[in-house]
Amino acid sequence: MDPVANEFSVLEQICRPGKQDDARVVIGPGDDLALVRTVAPGGDVDLQSGSLLLAGVDQLIDGIHVSLKDVGLKAAGRKAITRSLSDIAAMAGRPVATLVSAVVPVGMSGAEALELFESMKQVAAHYHAPLVGGDLAYHQDEHGVLNCSVTVLAVPPSDGAIERFGSKAGDGLYVTGKLGGAWQGAHHLTFEPRLAEASMLKAILGERLHAMIDISDGLGRDASHLVERSGLQVVLEGELLPCRDGSDLIGAVQDGEDYELLFTASGDVPEGLGACSVTRIGSIRERDTADEPSVLLLHDGEEHDVSCSGWEHGAK
Ligand SMILES: [Mg+2]
Repeated sequence: MDPVANEFSVLEQICRPGKQDDARVVIGPGDDLALVRTVAPGGDVDLQSGSLLLAGVDQLIDGIHVSLKDVGLKAAGRKAITRSLSDIAAMAGRPVATLVSAVVPVGMSGAEALELFESMKQVAAHYHAPLVGGDLAYHQDEHGVLNCSVTVLAVPPSDGAIERFGSKAGDGLYVTGKLGGAWQGAHHLTFEPRLAEASMLKAILGERLHAMIDISDGLGRDASHLVERSGLQVVLEGELLPCRDGSDLIGAVQDGEDYELLFTASGDVPEGLGACSVTRIGSIRERDTADEPSVLLLHDGEEHDVSCSGWEHGAK
C-alpha cells in the first residue's frame, strides 16, 4: 500500500475478494451501503430468515465537506445527514434510522452543540430516518475540527438493492438533475437527497435498472466506480451533460458534491421523475483493451480520459 493512505487504496485492500466470509453479508464494503441479513451468528445461518438491512457510515469534516465558519452549524448539520441519506438513494433504499457520533472543537458551547444536533435531528426526521442514538466528544487538541460521523440504516427494495456493479454493455447512462458548481454555490448545502426519485426509478424500470451511484466525488471519478471489476467502459457525451447554472462542462465532470443519481439502464427511461429531470449522458460499452480508460469523455471530436476527474480523499 502507498505510504500515504488514500481513500480508494485503503478501501481496495478491505474489499479484496475472499476477505468476506460471513454468509450474512450480502453486499460488503465497496458500495454506497452494505447489505446484511439480520440473523444471529453461529451454526448454519438460515439465509431465508431474518430481514435485509442496508447500513453505511460517512463523515462530515469541517474544512473538507463544509467550511463551518462560512456556513454555520445548522447548515453543517443538515449536510451531515443529507449526504448520508444520498447513499441510501443510491441503493434505491428507504430510510429507517440515523445515528450520529460527533467530535467537536475545544470551546464549542453547549448551546452550539445543541444547535448542531437539533439540526441533524430535524433533518433526519424530515426524511423519515429518525436520529436514534449517538455520541458527543470534545477534541483535546485546540486544532481539532468538527467531525460528524453519521450512520444510516435503511431497507432495500423488496427485489434487491441496486448495486454499483451491474452495468451491461449497451446500457444507457443517465443522471438526475444538473451537475457542476455545487460547492461554489449553495447546492451542496441545500440539495434534496434523491430518495423518492430512486424509488420511482426502481418501480418504473425494475430489472432494467442495472447499476446506480450518487455523485459526490465528481462525475468522472464516480462513473469509474460503475465499471470497476469489469471489462466495461463509460462513454460520456459532452454535449449532453446538464450543467448547473453558472457551471460548464469541466465543472460538471469534476466538481462533485452534486448528490445526483448516476445510473445505467436498458430500454426506455423516463425524461423526468416528478419535478426532477433525467438526462441521458452517455453509454456503457466493452473495453477493447485493458489499458483503455474506464471513463471517456467525447467532446468536440476529441476523446478525454476523465476517469480520475473529481475529488479523492487523501490524494496528493
Ligand atoms: Mg455515495
